[in-house]
Amino acid sequence: MERIRQQLQDHKDILLKLTTDLDLQKAQLKETTALKTERQEELREADERYTRSKARLMDISSAKEYNALEKEMEQLKRKVEETREQLDHLKEAIEVYERSISEKEEKILDLRAHIENADHDAEGQITRLGDRITTISAQREAAQKDIKIHIIKRYEFIRNRRDGQAIVAESKGHCEGCFMRIPPQLVIELQRESALIACPSCQRLLIHKDPDTDNGSAER
Ligand SMILES: [Zn+2]
Repeated sequence: MERIRQQLQDHKDILLKLTTDLDLQKAQLKETTALKTERQEELREADERYTRSKARLMDISSAKEYNALEKEMEQLKRKVEETREQLDHLKEAIEVYERSISEKEEKILDLRAHIENADHDAEGQITRLGDRITTISAQREAAQKDIKIHIIKRYEFIRNRRDGQAIVAESKGHCEGCFMRIPPQLVIELQRESALIACPSCQRLLIHKDPDTDNGSAER
């Protein structure tokens, strides 16, 4: 259950990061678009001034004035060229932002749909696992009714210390939990089923497994 929840959380984290990145890029796009508008206005002004200067050139009589105006026009021309270049760069940047934004928006839509489905699936899996746990708990409770309380306590004690495995088989004089040898006297007692026998090494409760029924090799 934890794993399912973790996976879902990971996807939600990715979605959050994508959404944050998207907001950031949208802000950058807005800024770049504003800059573009500004440069366009500058370009329009410089163009206008250039046209006006060109018209004034016809009315000028003195060479000094003519030279000054010509110099100014030269500067305006450079300014127009520079601004055009900047505008080109800005337009490129805007295209890149727009492309990236639409890609992110698409990814976000996909991921949202995926998470919604996964949420639904996880919900189902968690419900099924929960049901199973309820069933098993009920079965265990029913089984425990027939067992003495001190035995249950001992069982729980061992189970908590041995990775949830409290009962193991004894086979051919060995504990199948820790694979240590069990003293023959204990094996005999176990075969008689006269008492609850624990493995002396790992303390797990033992049940006797008949080697004949296990692998067919007779040991008589
Ligand atoms: Zn053992």
